Amino acid sequence: MRYSRYFIPTHKETPADAEIISHQLMLRAGLIRKLTSGIYTYLPAGLKALRKVEDIIRQEMNRSGAIELLMPAVQPAELWQETGRWDYYGSELLRFKDRHQRDSCLGPTHEEVITDLVRNEIHSYRQMPLNFYQIQTKFRDEIRPRFGVMRAREFVMKDGYSFDAEEPGADKSYQIMFDAYNRIFKRCGLQFRAVEADTGSIGGSFSHEFMVLADTGEDQLVNCLKCDYAANLEKAEVHWGGEKAAPLSGEWKPLEEVETPNMKSVEEVTDFLSITPQALVKTLILRSGDRVLAALVRGDHELNEIKLKNLLGLDQIELADPKIVEEVTGAPMGFAGPVGLQIEVLADHAIRDMKDFVTGGNKSDLHLRNVNVERDFQVAQFADLRVIAPGDACPKCGGEAHFGRGIEVGHVFKLGTKYSKAMGAVFLDENGKEIPIIMGCYGIGVGRTLAAAIEQNHDQDGIIFPIPMAPFEVVILPLQMHESEVAETAEKLHEELLGFGLDVLLDDRDLRAGIKFKDADLLGTPLRITIGMRSLKEQKVELKLRTESESTLIPLRETSRIIREKIKTLYDSIK
Ligand code: ATP
Ligand code: MG
Repeated sequence: MRYSRYFIPTHKETPADAEIISHQLMLRAGLIRKLTSGIYTYLPAGLKALRKVEDIIRQEMNRSGAIELLMPAVQPAELWQETGRWDYYGSELLRFKDRHQRDSCLGPTHEEVITDLVRNEIHSYRQMPLNFYQIQTKFRDEIRPRFGVMRAREFVMKDGYSFDAEEPGADKSYQIMFDAYNRIFKRCGLQFRAVEADTGSIGGSFSHEFMVLADTGEDQLVNCLKCDYAANLEKAEVHWGGEKAAPLSGEWKPLEEVETPNMKSVEEVTDFLSITPQALVKTLILRSGDRVLAALVRGDHELNEIKLKNLLGLDQIELADPKIVEEVTGAPMGFAGPVGLQIEVLADHAIRDMKDFVTGGNKSDLHLRNVNVERDFQVAQFADLRVIAPGDACPKCGGEAHFGRGIEVGHVFKLGTKYSKAMGAVFLDENGKEIPIIMGCYGIGVGRTLAAAIEQNHDQDGIIFPIPMAPFEVVILPLQMHESEVAETAEKLHEELLGFGLDVLLDDRDLRAGIKFKDADLLGTPLRITIGMRSLKEQKVELKLRTESESTLIPLRETSRIIREKIKTLYDSIK
């Protein structure tokens, strides 16, 4: 490709509205342009990189036996009403009416569409297992679109759906996808981890998120330094040893009221009373529909709403608004406590180890000291209700847990029969009995994977693309285009490398060398060949890897061979 005839509009300045480095670099390197909030155009070089990620995904999906199809972006409301998601999905679902006033939406995901297809076409266990996938544009009206294509409203996703007649087969389909995803992200040249993720009301441990490790990631993850355990922060269990449990009676101090004028937060109260947060119990009032309940966690711990939701088998739970809090506690927000509360009280296991603790007093500007479970209030259920925290042990082996951040690029999920039951996707077993099909779903954010790769691979000069997704594998950089010897050598090498099927960019622009070097670094092309009058006199050209700071002179005659070898080495190093 000749740079002068191509289109890579680069910028020197960091765009003001780009918060994270991958977003800044994708704009500066001329890979994407914003149309409007969360909606982007892929410019030619950006599209090339995106296609390379797609190609890797496609190859590995096909290799694993999945079958590609393409479903529509526009979906009728009726299908979403069948599964109940028309109401449940919320404002992320972009809805509209067509000219006949029929309700429609832009697909944020395709469980309904694929299940509709399968219920019409699959009737026998003999037709399964089946695994369909597509690489297609999704629309989600994200509340906070940001980070460029990382959290966009319109984005390209690979989504796949498996269909099995029996549980063991469904588990196998899941495992096949799990393995394929590991190969995909490995082939993309990424540092990643598959972590256990929440399965919500469906239950079981059959959900993994694939996280690209990056400090700027929106997700938090925990992994064990001793065993292979890794989980999304919200999923990680906290085991309660039970050995320190407070005595149930006997040595308790008398309950005491203490005035705490305007002291609401844990910090304010503990400072005021000169106690540690470990000696205080937070009382959170939550609401799920009409059900209002209290959850207790230790002052330094954080309630994990997902654990609570799963424990109670609820679809949704949220912190109650101030009005409800006042109604049930009789006090303004910040003074809730379990003593005398008339609603159901659940408590985290850690509370069992506490005695003579501090809680809110259900009265303005009042807290209670020396509160004890059983004597002062009853707990309906103790459970693991909190977010794992530094210092907690690995739930699998008791080893040391490490906390980090990541970007979720892929998600595999065993769905079970949620959609097939709701939509009547059934097959007839050997005895002619109707059985719901067991499904799995598997997604990869294609654009997000590309952005995550940049987030993980860059320096102060620009992107350092892992070679499998670099728009170009080699850039040829002639220093003096007006010198015919330089120009001819560059043209010849360009032709030759193209002949070997390489992705080559010839920077034939009549610009200062400094600008060309800067652009080459910014775009992150793994290999750079510099051709200049001085080295040509010795029949040499300069080779530099984007990952290294030093360049080497190589014989002109052997340039093509050396480049091909280098490229092969680069690909081999990430296989
Ligand atoms: P997130 O928690 O980041 O919103 P999600 O759980 O909603 O993700 P899934 O429904 O599992 O995502 O979608 C599959 C994949 O699609 C995700 O793993 C992610 O890589 C990608 N993806 C999801 N939302 C977006 C988005 N707004 N922009 C770009 N990619 C996205
Ligand atoms: Mg989302």
